Amino acid sequence: MTGSVHTLQERFRHLRMAETADELPMLLRNAEKSSWTYLEFLQELLGHELKCREKKNMEKRMKWAKFPYIKTLDEFIVEEQVSLSTRQLNQLRELNWLEQQCNMILLGPPGTGKTHISIGLGYEAIQKGYKVSFSTMGELVHLLKTEEYIRKSQMELKRLKEADLVIIDDLMYMAMDSREANLFFHLINHLYERSSIILTSNKGPEQWGELMGDQGITTAILDRLLHRVEVIQLNENDSYRIKNRITIFGKESVQN
Ligand code: ADP
Ligand code: MG
Repeated sequence: MTGSVHTLQERFRHLRMAETADELPMLLRNAEKSSWTYLEFLQELLGHELKCREKKNMEKRMKWAKFPYIKTLDEFIVEEQVSLSTRQLNQLRELNWLEQQCNMILLGPPGTGKTHISIGLGYEAIQKGYKVSFSTMGELVHLLKTEEYIRKSQMELKRLKEADLVIIDDLMYMAMDSREANLFFHLINHLYERSSIILTSNKGPEQWGELMGDQGITTAILDRLLHRVEVIQLNENDSYRIKNRITIFGKESVQN
């Protein structure tokens, strides 16, 4: 019996079912102990393999997403941000907008939770089987400018273009020259109606023209982005960082 289990394990490995191969002795013992039917045994075995594969795929998707850190939506305190209701946040969490390739623009001053919400939504999307890509605008511009001659940039952009959700954090943090704006336009054009995009920015679209240095390109980018979009304006007075900062002097001395 041991010999034949070993052979079976080899065969499972040959079929690239390594997880099942490892688990086989245990599955066989459980089958005997609980008198599983053939059908039950097969269900357990395949169920185990599928569960392991999904876990591995999810880990791979998490790695590919390149989140700078993990923040979940459960950690987001809605009461701290009056411009977003629990109902709205839950609606975003359902990810119907992602299914419909809608874009999202999160606007607001620093510390209002734009990056947190975008990572949280990205994390949620990965749990549901979507591919996600996160990059800051600075990183993205670097990738686009070096795509021609750096293989790593090519690979990362390929992955980004295959993502269901592309998160671009801190758009307009820096001014772009016309070549950069052009490269960015081509990317947005490629993603248009293929993926959902989440953009975060501390400046409203009306100011983007100035920073991109070319009104024509800005209009073309906005045209594609705003076709199907939800704009969420986070509140000026709700900077979580400021409200929850750790001060050197403590709370009383700030008021004094
Ligand atoms: P932004 O990207 O708008 O500058 P962040 O998302 O980086 O802001 O938020 C700054 C910090 O404050 C992060 O650590 C984030 O997790 C936290 N934060 C912001 N808003 C909230 C909130 N409503 N509930 C919990 N944490 C928050
Ligand atoms: Mg941010």
